[in-house]
Amino acid sequence: MTDTTPAAAPTTATFTTRSPATGDPVAEHPVHGPEEVSRAIARARAAQSGWAALPASRRRDHLLRWKKAIATELDTVARTIAEETGKPAGDAALEVVLTLEHLSWAARNAGRVLRRRKAGTGLFTVHQRASLVHRPLGVIGVIGPWNYPLYTPMGSIGYALAAGNAVVFKPSELTPGTGVLLAGLFDAAVPAYAGLLTTVTGAASTGDTLARSGVDKLAFTGSPGTARKVMGVCAETLTPFLAECGGKDAVIVTADADLDAAADAIVWGALSNAGQTCAGVERVYAVREIHAQLCERVVERAGALRTGPEAGAAYGPMTLPGQVGIVERHVAGAVAGGARALLGGPESVRAPYVAPVVLTGVPEDAAAMTEETFGPVVAINAVADVDEAVALANASRYALGAAVFCRKGRAGAAIAARLRAGAVSVNSVLGFAAVPALPFGGSQDSGFGRIHGEEGLRSFTSVQSTTVQRFTPPIALTSFGVPAATRERAVRLARALHRRR
Ligand code: NAD
Repeated sequence: MTDTTPAAAPTTATFTTRSPATGDPVAEHPVHGPEEVSRAIARARAAQSGWAALPASRRRDHLLRWKKAIATELDTVARTIAEETGKPAGDAALEVVLTLEHLSWAARNAGRVLRRRKAGTGLFTVHQRASLVHRPLGVIGVIGPWNYPLYTPMGSIGYALAAGNAVVFKPSELTPGTGVLLAGLFDAAVPAYAGLLTTVTGAASTGDTLARSGVDKLAFTGSPGTARKVMGVCAETLTPFLAECGGKDAVIVTADADLDAAADAIVWGALSNAGQTCAGVERVYAVREIHAQLCERVVERAGALRTGPEAGAAYGPMTLPGQVGIVERHVAGAVAGGARALLGGPESVRAPYVAPVVLTGVPEDAAAMTEETFGPVVAINAVADVDEAVALANASRYALGAAVFCRKGRAGAAIAARLRAGAVSVNSVLGFAAVPALPFGGSQDSGFGRIHGEEGLRSFTSVQSTTVQRFTPPIALTSFGVPAATRERAVRLARALHRRR
């Protein structure tokens, strides 16, 4: 294990990460406190001034070297992710691949997106040359979750670095090793800027310390409850805050949809990573004509999947031990409220594993429909028509992702446009997450602000507007020396112009 904080006041307290499958210890990590966090910030700040001053093309080249190092160590990174989260090795490798795609896009596009651009001028400002530029903020604090311990925080880290910032990263206490490895690979690939990315380890108290440390923005990914606490801390110092929180994503299936394709995607979207995906499928609204057929096809596919310790399992254990109880409560509550379990049921919960559960007829006010379940459970409810499906999909207090299955892509896109979700896939699930150019984020309890894409780069900048006066204006209004007659003439002219339309 590499301690990436700067040379060393010894940290006595440590914590142990454990395999979610077996409970066996994986590694020991230091609990970083205020001293280590401030040292990481100071080191990041020192590295950032030179980093921000580099031409964008040089930053790009450095980041691509880091990307190459991650790709070269893909197996090690994927193994660390799999050990810490319990997910199958293939899923962990896919997470690294997606991360590389995003880092590549951020590195290659930051210069274009953030460069100085001209702005138009107006009647009284023709003498100005106006432009705007996006400047880095400084040091970004990133607090991450455990379910995608590389892909998710890199949506902030990679884009923040590409925009010219330094980053201090506090990974989840369940997955610190992935964060430590990431920063270690950066230092090795870009030694001239060692310390530009530092990982500090620990649980809530380390995250709280980071939020209080004077970072220039804090990008948080996790549950809405924690987001509220961290935002409260940031509010004390007016530290800008970005929140990527949970979801309760809905899928709408129309009467003419390809039901095999829909069932296949629903099963993967709901069950992959044991359902521990912020934009995973949790609710399905299928129009009544095809509801029974869709349920049958989902049950057939989900029923063929296995979870457990053996190789070849479709998904692994629940990573967070406490989540098992939430899944059990949601399933039991739905069944007690009148839902029918088409596959599995409360008995599917055998910690740390949960076998696939497919429910139907779940009351819309059941916890399984209103709260994030974050487990391998999907509810498929019948609706009269697309209007009802849209209304129910939008009734959630979450608004992160969604999907629509519909014969014609254009009709699907029209339904997508009626959804409040921050990202919608038509005829696939989670399609948006693999396209680096697309911004990602939600609203309400799903948070606010955007990562990924051009917006994701701009999220880690502040815009500076500049005017350069090119010549002395014919009507100079910003001087006490302006004769009253000139000012009156200007007002007359403006009034005449603006009254026309
Ligand atoms: P969590 O809220 O428990 O913890 C998130 C992070 O916050 C961890 O690093 C944790 O140590 C830290 N933390 C906890 N208390 C803190 C405090 N008081 N001050 C500062 N930091 C604190 O979330 P989790 O269980 O790690 O992650 C699961 C949640 O994340 C789910 O709700 C999931 O939907 C969401 N998530 C969202 C996205 C997204 O992009 N929208 C992606 C992945 C996960």
